[in-house]
Amino acid sequence: MGFAGQNWFINAAALLQTALEPEDLLETLLAVEQDFGRVRTIKWGPRTLDLDILYYGDKRVDSPRLTIPHPLMHERLFVLAPLAEIDPGWVHPMLELSALEMLERLRAMDHGQEIEKVDI
Ligand code: ADP
Ligand code: MG
Repeated sequence: MGFAGQNWFINAAALLQTALEPEDLLETLLAVEQDFGRVRTIKWGPRTLDLDILYYGDKRVDSPRLTIPHPLMHERLFVLAPLAEIDPGWVHPMLELSALEMLERLRAMDHGQEIEKVDI
């Protein structure tokens, strides 16, 4: 999936159950990013990965290190399309719109974003 003028990239959404508090979950995700970003062999080159927390139930977090819900989630088709497949009824605590409603709103706008569903 991608924006005009940017390279295409693969994006996915996952729904997790965790005992970790948001800050500790962020630490874990950043450690996984580090692991995947490592250059392993010359042949395969560096891997890049970006793991973001979109939301954590209906909790709000606003600290220098962490903002939940993710401040750009409702503007990104590549976030809302996979999210609406796995958790369409989740309601954004500030916007008071479900994931499906946010997706439909964004689709109705001239957002200039192009996405394509792939099976991997
Ligand atoms: P981006 O995801 O915006 O492309 P980065 O992955 O480099 O940028 O993230 C930079 C920082 O964003 C992280 O180190 C983290 O502290 C912060 N951050 C704030 N809110 C979130 C969130 N909801 N999910 C993930 N990272 C976040
Ligand atoms: Mg990130």
